[in-house]
Amino acid sequence: MSEIILIRPHHGLCSQFFVGNGYSDEFVENMTNVLDKLNTQNLTVKIVEHCDDICSCCPKNMGGMCENEESVIQHDNKCLEEYGYKVGDEILWNDLREKVVSKIKAENKLPSVCQECSWGSICEKFDIEKL
Ligand code: SF4
Ligand code: SF4
Repeated sequence: MSEIILIRPHHGLCSQFFVGNGYSDEFVENMTNVLDKLNTQNLTVKIVEHCDDICSCCPKNMGGMCENEESVIQHDNKCLEEYGYKVGDEILWNDLREKVVSKIKAENKLPSVCQECSWGSICEKFDIEKL
């Protein structure tokens, strides 16, 4: 059986804008490795409502609970609403990417989905047409 990557809903979105920034060197290295695997192998991802395989090396991961849980859960819920997926769904990475493009890009929903995220100034500059 092939590997399944755990992913919080909003990380499907953040991953499309990742340019090597992050909370620590370890976080960046891990996120780079996870995205490399997902993008090259189109692995199955399982939608989770807790810390995922990107959070695993984050200094804000407090034993499986994000230090900013109240804020990130809002991003998660907004993304789930746009994707039409639910917690526990298992889908191919490329299908999740397609949802990001068709539901969030096509309808220009980045500002409303990402409200108050501290990385917003970086993601807003990204040329979404390249996705
Ligand atoms: S602004 Fe924040 S939540 Fe939105 S895509 Fe960027 S990192 Fe993710
Ligand atoms: S800030 Fe929270 S949601 Fe984001 S990667 Fe770190 S632990 Fe995960």
